[in-house]
Amino acid sequence: MNWLSNLIPPRIRSFVSEQKEVPDNLWQKCTSCEGMLFHRDLEKSHNVCYHCGHHLRFPVADRLKMMFDGGEYTSHELPEVAHDPLKFKDRKRYVDRIKEAQSKTGLNEAITIASGKMGGLNVVIAAFNFRYMGGSMGAAVGEAIVKAAEIAVRDNATFITIPASGGARMQEGMISLMQMPRSIIAVEMVKNAKLPYIVILTDPTTGGVSASFAMLGDIHIAEPGTMIGFAGRRVIEETVRETLPENFQTAEYLLEHGIVDMVVTRDEMKNTVVNLISILTQTPVNPDAGGSSKKTKKSSGKSKKSGKKATSQVKAAQQAVRSISQNCDDVTGQKKAAAN
Ligand SMILES: [Zn+2]
Repeated sequence: MNWLSNLIPPRIRSFVSEQKEVPDNLWQKCTSCEGMLFHRDLEKSHNVCYHCGHHLRFPVADRLKMMFDGGEYTSHELPEVAHDPLKFKDRKRYVDRIKEAQSKTGLNEAITIASGKMGGLNVVIAAFNFRYMGGSMGAAVGEAIVKAAEIAVRDNATFITIPASGGARMQEGMISLMQMPRSIIAVEMVKNAKLPYIVILTDPTTGGVSASFAMLGDIHIAEPGTMIGFAGRRVIEETVRETLPENFQTAEYLLEHGIVDMVVTRDEMKNTVVNLISILTQTPVNPDAGGSSKKTKKSSGKSKKSGKKATSQVKAAQQAVRSISQNCDDVTGQKKAAAN
């Protein structure tokens, strides 16, 4: 306390000290429109800017809560792998980078495996955390994808991957590149068991991740504005010596070119995925378990309404599947025309 605070009457002093306790991260700026976003409103909108609709990065824990029924799911331990197999060191030692990433995110690795129900149907999700070393794929991540696929096969569940990654983890050299074929084999395992495999592409999906399991889904869904590609824009422009279109490597551009099947906003994501799983597995959705994650007892009138909502959702999903096959036909048609 200095001489000035001693002069302030006690009541006012308590008011001033209370104000000091207000955390400084109540507001954040939208990275697209620079509008100010209040943290509580942002939480409600699932990290989507309520000024311009820009999809900001979404913490994995919040995303899983949004996806699973009632926000409930089981997290699975990640398989043990040898840390720092190459004893790699650049400006920092790789082991130190790992420790830093772990303390920053509170996670063991750049991936989380979770299983639970969506719309009452069994689902296993492997989701990437971009804040952990740019969501890069090393041995641990590759091993985790294999484990997640094995759980999906064991539980007769739909397998969903949610990549957000800069690509392979360069500190693991060739070992990180080996995770590309390994993750592909994991996906094959799910497909051989005749289970659906869905990829939800989130910003950014690049490098070795986009060149392996992330492009092998039965259905590819992307969030609006997601950056999806292999090499960076500048590298491509310098190599081919051409100026690329403005929206190159965005979800919308890839939708036009048949690589992405659907671009779906975050608030529609769960319903869309649930309906797709229902169609792919030919299992009806449990309307009480689907839709929102709020648990409420419904009167008979209301449950009828939710039943109606479920039918309209199924219709919407069927429409989506039709538009996907239409897209595929268009792209094959264009390819054939180009070949001729
Ligand atoms: Zn915005």
